[in-house]
Amino acid sequence: MKGSEISVYVHIPFCVRKCLYCDFNSAVQPDYIIDSYINALLTELDLKREAFVSRQLVSVYIGGGTPSSIPPSYIRLILERISSYIPINDDTEITIEINPGTTVDHKIGDYVACGINRISIGLQSADDEELKALGRIHDFETFLHTYDVVSNAGIDNINVDIMTSIPHQNKESLVSTLKKVTGLKPQHISAYSLIIEPGTPFYQRGAVNLDLPSEDESLEMDRKTREFLDAAGYKRYEISNYAKKDEKRDFRCLHNLRYWDRGDYLGFGVSAASLYGNRRFTNIADIGPYITSPGRQVSEDLLLSPDDAAAEFMFLGLRKTDGIRLLDFKEEFGTDIKRIYGHIMKKQVEKELAMFSGEGDEERFMLTDRGLEVSNIVMSEFLR
Ligand code: SF4
Repeated sequence: MKGSEISVYVHIPFCVRKCLYCDFNSAVQPDYIIDSYINALLTELDLKREAFVSRQLVSVYIGGGTPSSIPPSYIRLILERISSYIPINDDTEITIEINPGTTVDHKIGDYVACGINRISIGLQSADDEELKALGRIHDFETFLHTYDVVSNAGIDNINVDIMTSIPHQNKESLVSTLKKVTGLKPQHISAYSLIIEPGTPFYQRGAVNLDLPSEDESLEMDRKTREFLDAAGYKRYEISNYAKKDEKRDFRCLHNLRYWDRGDYLGFGVSAASLYGNRRFTNIADIGPYITSPGRQVSEDLLLSPDDAAAEFMFLGLRKTDGIRLLDFKEEFGTDIKRIYGHIMKKQVEKELAMFSGEGDEERFMLTDRGLEVSNIVMSEFLR
């Protein structure tokens, strides 16, 4: 069944204002550009419709940018166009990213009506000073209102994004954010560390001028986040992602799991990446040329060799806390995983950065908590 499944990512590269740390492909744009862009997106969907034939749609993720900054009628058009090429059924996870301060009250009814069943809210911090330092447009009160609007609309799969290692943040303010967020009982929480990316105002200002937590404090904050969320009933299932899970329902994000499990997905819009039958390609980042010839120009187009695909299987799969199932590797690559990576796996286990668990067909290999902390170093071993 897995081979026929597919996911869709749609990139909405518009924001109300650019945050000071942001290096995503997003910008403030006039209405006529937004309109042309949505038309281009629809054209790209038309162009690639053959890719949906005989496929089952697992998930749609409308990300950005700030998808809630544009009229919801555009979101409806996109979902209608997708469903004209591939059935959207009750099990299809349809996520939209929204940001507080984008008049979600007037949009939520449309989101629900067009089938959106998961909403991801960009909070980042419950401390107004920290939000201000990040250049966000909202304060915590505005977030609370947005959260109420979303949950009162009957959305029962809500993610809240928070951030660690942000200017002025300390352990106390982080714990306060965690308390306030978990008190709302969202089903999913993502917690990322701030990274100062080149080309951003933060980068230009220089890390030393930003009142950032030290490296040790940052590590401590990440540990605190894990402990706190675990105690509050959120199971960590990937380096930065936590979800509620019980016998009735599993709130891990299906869409993101597709990325880590290397399932096929198609990305639409500027900078959108795709993996389709071992071909990885990424649309161009410039909005002008994209609007002129949507989906025809790529910035990267790679046909993965079996070795490349196997390395990806390892470093993407090991992002998940339950790691990889050895049998899955054998089924996908026709050879025993230990024959290819046995020496690296053994080395990581000896360093206590990884471990095996389970037996027989259910044997798995995964990183330990310490291994997840230094995951970049561990995973780079599989790229050699
Ligand atoms: S809202 Fe998100 S995408 Fe938009 S500028 Fe801020 S961080 Fe970037």
